[in-house]
Amino acid sequence: MAGTPRIAIIGAGLGGCTAAALLHQAGYEVRLYEQAPAFSRLGAGIHLGPNLMQVMRRVGIEEQLVKVGNEPDFWYSRDGRTGEITGKVPLSDSRVRYGAPYLTIHRGDFAQLLADAVPASILKYGKKVDSVEDTGDDVRLVFSDGTTETADIVVGADGVNSVVRERLLGPELPQHTGYAAHRAVFRTPMQSLDLPFDMCTKWWADDRHMMVYYVTRKKDEIYFVTGVPGGEDWNLDVRYTPSTKQELRETFAGWHPTVQALIEEAQEITFWPLLERDPLPLWSRGRMVLLGDACHPMKPHMGQGAAMAIEDAGMLVRCLRELGPHRYEQAFKLYETNRSGRAAKVQKVSHENTWLRRDEDPSWCFGYDVFSVPLMQ
Ligand SMILES: Cc1cc2nc3c(=O)[nH]c(=O)nc-3n(C[C@H](O)[C@H](O)[C@H](O)COP(=O)(O)OP(=O)(O)OC[C@H]3O[C@@H](n4cnc5c(N)ncnc54)[C@H](O)[C@@H]3O)c2cc1C
Repeated sequence: MAGTPRIAIIGAGLGGCTAAALLHQAGYEVRLYEQAPAFSRLGAGIHLGPNLMQVMRRVGIEEQLVKVGNEPDFWYSRDGRTGEITGKVPLSDSRVRYGAPYLTIHRGDFAQLLADAVPASILKYGKKVDSVEDTGDDVRLVFSDGTTETADIVVGADGVNSVVRERLLGPELPQHTGYAAHRAVFRTPMQSLDLPFDMCTKWWADDRHMMVYYVTRKKDEIYFVTGVPGGEDWNLDVRYTPSTKQELRETFAGWHPTVQALIEEAQEITFWPLLERDPLPLWSRGRMVLLGDACHPMKPHMGQGAAMAIEDAGMLVRCLRELGPHRYEQAFKLYETNRSGRAAKVQKVSHENTWLRRDEDPSWCFGYDVFSVPLMQ
């Protein structure tokens, strides 16, 4: 490899776009390949914790996100039936406590701002990678449209069914967790009842929950995402299916009037399988490296799945800079050393679904800055 290495990133999800923006800023020659024909706006919300926002500051879109997203005062946990508060963790002091704000936002607004941070000339839509092969001198990518490209380094940011993971570790389907999630974004209900529409609340029972938050600074749009038993026999070729109010009424029968009111106001409801993988034995080999859901898909119950993909991107760029791009294999090992423990811990806590149900100190998660945390060698 002579000169600046050519880096191909597969997958323009939240992790891939972050990696592309940061690597481009660092002066690398980057191509970002996405199978979708164009940008699409997913109807969902997302938590942007301060650990994720530290990375967005480097990407250069922190202020734009703050203008659009909501800053919740607390993460409330409430009993799903009685409404009793079981946990109340402060978020509004996140800038002081953790060095960056905590936002809740429409996922489409976030994804759009992040995609816009990637120069259009390097983001290639309609490019589904069918196979990747490390030839020793470079990596050969074969696309489903019959074209081929080569790169010096390949980053697999291609999600839970990653072709790069399969190339490194062989075919293996992700595990179904036995849980699934309803998602709906809709206009904030105009309530005459005196219901607790806190800014960010998780309504809990032992085997199911509903997380609710505003997705705009104006608080005129609200989102809920559930975690409920089901979906074990899911056809993995299908990403999500439509759902109904009736299904939610039955799933949350007897729950608090706020939950009932939200179900009645929801318009378009979708239903998603929740998939996981056990921690992988390796994250890279030769010229190929993984990040995000490609290597550690998890239940979304901490609201930290995308944050882990984005932190990975930050750490990968940091390690390449630290060691120099020509020592990419050592940089990939340093990256894995510094990411695998944290990703596995977040996977575990997400799986157990205990996060912030009672008051606890979240600083190990929220207070992490991928650019300043001491590097483990
Ligand atoms: C119901 C639900 C709720 C969630 N809520 C939250 C939340 O509140 N907060 C949070 O942080 N996380 C949340 N997550 C998790 C989060 O969505 C994921 O962890 C995150 O999207 C992972 O990002 P990624 O970039 O690694 O992968 P993805 O977002 O899956 O992106 C992968 C990209 O690669 C592309 N791709 C795949 N294969 C190929 C190929 N062969 N060739 C080219 N392109 C390809 C895909 O089209 C896609 O664009 C939630 C997940 C679910 C299911």
